[in-house]
Amino acid sequence: MTAPKPSDLAFVPFVSVENMMKLVHRIGIEQMLRDLGDYIEDDFRRWELFDKTPRVASHSRDGVIELMPTSDGEVYGFKYVNGHPKNTREGLQTVTAFGLLATVDTGYPVMLSEMTVLTALRTAATSAMVAKHLAPKGARTMAMIGNGAQSEFQALAFKAICGVDRLRLYDLDRGATAKTIRNLQGFGFEMTSCDSPEDAMLGAEIITTCTADKQYATILTDNMIGSGVHINAIGGDCPGKTELHPDILKRSTVFVEYPAQTRIEGEIQQMPADFPVTEMWQVIGGTAPGRTDARQITLFDGVGFAIEDFSALRYVRSKLEETGLYQDLDMIADPDDPRDLFGMLQRSKV
Ligand code: NAD
Repeated sequence: MTAPKPSDLAFVPFVSVENMMKLVHRIGIEQMLRDLGDYIEDDFRRWELFDKTPRVASHSRDGVIELMPTSDGEVYGFKYVNGHPKNTREGLQTVTAFGLLATVDTGYPVMLSEMTVLTALRTAATSAMVAKHLAPKGARTMAMIGNGAQSEFQALAFKAICGVDRLRLYDLDRGATAKTIRNLQGFGFEMTSCDSPEDAMLGAEIITTCTADKQYATILTDNMIGSGVHINAIGGDCPGKTELHPDILKRSTVFVEYPAQTRIEGEIQQMPADFPVTEMWQVIGGTAPGRTDARQITLFDGVGFAIEDFSALRYVRSKLEETGLYQDLDMIADPDDPRDLFGMLQRSKV
């Protein structure tokens, strides 16, 4: 990353929702998901370089607001994100987000971006990149339980990165499944709307759970899970909010992003503190085994980690110059004399 000139630093490139959507269309959503998967995988390979901390969460009755910071020693980033399962009943989204990158040399921000769309893309790219390492070889059929805002992104990432082209869809709300099927027409999927989660499991080699409910839910029970499948469980991502029966965890090899965060927020919050898990960065780097046996159940207990957001922001920043899809934001005060902030204020009087 070339260092910006001091004068450039007063204006912060801002990627609006409109420009993010244009970027996705310009690149093509499946290509962008593959690119994001590559950026995330590259950053998982240099995992040890990063500052890591469980996200800073502020819980309230109806949801959570979180800050997710990290740095690779050259660039610092954070995401602001909420999770409010009740929001959709009021016409609002469950998850919204924005994020920022700054250069550690000066501490000045170098990009501010919408991240509601980008979070859906990066979550899906992470899930599929992980499945590339863990899912049974040649898997083509995925069950998807929970067909809300994340679902189409998940489906497309699994197609672009893993070659999944058959979807078995189930949601408590049939309207959500109908919406997902409608949105995914023309992308080359064979799609089946299922009457129950059990029905959705039939023939599925990969199972994605992506539901939103602020409780210990049991979306999957042990008897529903056959040997050899890969489970991509991403809906349980804060304390008191899980999707799987603990018996499934006992039968599975569990893979996580950052154990210190996942033990608080993931499916494994239901298990003892020393429950064994494998860190994905080690599988990717070749220092820990992934799937070792065709009958093994692999489970990605994905909660979303700051490094994935950092990678996604890093990718968007790499496209700014070439696409011009940003606005300059007058966000950082820029006095002629850096010690005369008050003088700058006085001179702005009309
Ligand atoms: P959403 O509210 O748009 O969709 C959730 C869907 O789940 C809804 O259609 C709802 O009807 C369905 N649902 C709820 N309970 C169900 C049940 N028992 N069986 C079947 N379907 C059920 O939410 P979203 O934006 O798609 O997010 C889904 C979940 O993923 C949320 O919990 C969110 O916090 C989480 N999430 C995780 C990550 C991550 O990185 N792990 C990232 C983004 C979102």
